[in-house]
Amino acid sequence: MLADLHLHTFFSDGTYSPEELVEQAKRAGLQAIALTDHDTMEGCPRTAEACRKAKIEFIPACEFTAEMGEIEIHLLGYYLDMENGRLREQLGKFQAVRQQRIETMTARLNALGIPLHADTVFAIANCRAPGRPHVARALVQEEFCGSLDEAFERFLKKGKPAWAPKLKISALGAIELIHQAGGIAVLAHPGLSRADEVIPDVIAAGLDGLECFHTKHSTSMTEHYLELAEKNRLLVTGGSDCHGRNHGKPLIGTIKIPYQYVEHLKDRMLQRAAENGFLLADGDHSPHPMGRGQGEGIV
Ligand code: AMP
Ligand code: FE
Ligand code: FE
Ligand code: ZN
Repeated sequence: MLADLHLHTFFSDGTYSPEELVEQAKRAGLQAIALTDHDTMEGCPRTAEACRKAKIEFIPACEFTAEMGEIEIHLLGYYLDMENGRLREQLGKFQAVRQQRIETMTARLNALGIPLHADTVFAIANCRAPGRPHVARALVQEEFCGSLDEAFERFLKKGKPAWAPKLKISALGAIELIHQAGGIAVLAHPGLSRADEVIPDVIAAGLDGLECFHTKHSTSMTEHYLELAEKNRLLVTGGSDCHGRNHGKPLIGTIKIPYQYVEHLKDRMLQRAAENGFLLADGDHSPHPMGRGQGEGIV
């Protein structure tokens, strides 16, 4: 049994619909997947339904952008209750800032003599959590850039002239938000950010797990993070971080982690739920009284 716990759809910056994603997951031989769109869980009900039909176990999740000091980190929240009030409110705020940021980035491009309209980006994004990849796609579509890479290199990378910051929550705030929504907090792709120096602080803030397996982690990085996870008694997760057909061949299927890691994640979620006094009915694995019955097909 194999799982991929880091996937995106067109509800954020992926290109797959939930149904296409699940079809690809089936083709890749996955038995469990988590949807981790940036700053939204809108894709979860459809993905859960497609997984139910395909007999794949589904884990509702979300990827948050947070910061610890000056360092940007990504945090994955697994088994989040989509109906949680504070979570919904915060996601709404992150989405509003992302939309405002598209206006800022297009205004910066305009000032550089590139007449790209924010509406062109919004039409391409067609979602509540637009981001730089949508600006990049618009720049390519309107023939201002020859490729997505060129768009990032010339304009969109941090420090380039059209870059604009996102609303970032503190790592402590993000972990607390995830926990109060019944979720498990995992540090995403630590090898991609300068995360090592802040990992002890993120652990102290209540981190539950480390994403040791990731497409962009080398074998030695993976080993390093597995060791770190063991030393600090953290859960281990992993996933492809597939964004669909954005950059050539889709990444889904390239990282497949043993199902035992999903079991440990689920055990932790159930244990946390029990500690928090949620009563579980027989066979009901949802710790969320409010979410029960609404997350159809969510195992
Ligand atoms: P944002 O959340 O709007 O800051 O955009 C970050 C997203 O942009 C990441 O999740 C990736 O999907 C994508 N991304 C970051 N760097 C690049 C790059 N150099 N080329 C293509 N996509 C990128
Ligand atoms: Fe992304
Ligand atoms: Fe990320
Ligand atoms: Zn991601």
